[in-house]
Amino acid sequence: MDYEVIAFYILKPIEEPRREIKRWKKFLETLDGKGRIYINKKGINAQMSLFKENLTPFSDWLLKDYPNTEVKVQRYQEHAFAKLTVKYREQLAAMDKDYDLSQGGTHLSSAEWAKMIEERDEDTVILDVRNDYEWEVGHFEGTEKPTFETFREFPKYVEEMSKERDPKKTKVMMYCTGGIRCELYSCLFKEQGFEEVYQLDGGVIKYGQEQGNKHWKGNLFVFDDRLVVPIADEENEVISSCKHCGTKIDTYYNCANMDCNDLFLSCLDCAEKMKGCCTDACIEAPRRRPFTPTAHPKPFRKLPHEEKICAPS
Ligand SMILES: [Zn+2]
Ligand SMILES: [Zn+2]
Repeated sequence: MDYEVIAFYILKPIEEPRREIKRWKKFLETLDGKGRIYINKKGINAQMSLFKENLTPFSDWLLKDYPNTEVKVQRYQEHAFAKLTVKYREQLAAMDKDYDLSQGGTHLSSAEWAKMIEERDEDTVILDVRNDYEWEVGHFEGTEKPTFETFREFPKYVEEMSKERDPKKTKVMMYCTGGIRCELYSCLFKEQGFEEVYQLDGGVIKYGQEQGNKHWKGNLFVFDDRLVVPIADEENEVISSCKHCGTKIDTYYNCANMDCNDLFLSCLDCAEKMKGCCTDACIEAPRRRPFTPTAHPKPFRKLPHEEKICAPS
């Protein structure tokens, strides 16, 4: 386990984003950093991996210009990304609407979050603000599978909820992988008149490191080569199942039909039988990649639905 997988975000004005991109690229290349870093005038969203010896030089460099940045770190046996991408991106976490960060939800520590789950009543809603395929392999108990087709529909979803529930009485708790989505989406709830809006500080990554699997079922989907990881040191029960045979499994494959490329859950046996495809139709498709049997598949090029929320290259 010689590598560190690192996630953080910075939400404050970046004076000259283009220049900052060049500076980051240059520095990260000297450290053999790999990953995806998006920068714009409003901030930085970063997921990357580094050889463990390079973590301290990187943190020192980062904190010099951006003090108080909370960096989440997990160990891994190799780089979790295939290459380094540092680029300008209009949205740090896909949301078309403008947001006013001072209007965001109240941050809850992992301990406060766990306590609030235990004390929830019928006026409490726990919202998973991730994609359905992320929820599928792991989520907090008592949360519903997200129903948005894309996250651009989120503003409409909030508006509808404000009609169905009393915004003055409802306690909205929301969580995502690393925290940045909630920073932005919680503003929408406040805008629609919801008074009690809470967000899990540091997301599921930090929660798992501090609280383990308490109130959490399954594992965590991540946007890098690892795909699905436990949230704590101890293994957790697998809650999702193979698309083809129903065996409990949380291994995702990209469909070998290049014109499909859909993410689907499969056991290794079925993946082999199906030649890495999600349906019979895909097996017959003209542009099919050869399938190499492996129980730890890496995402093929980019993750197909990633742009729904998080950031394609
Ligand atoms: Zn199967
Ligand atoms: Zn397919």
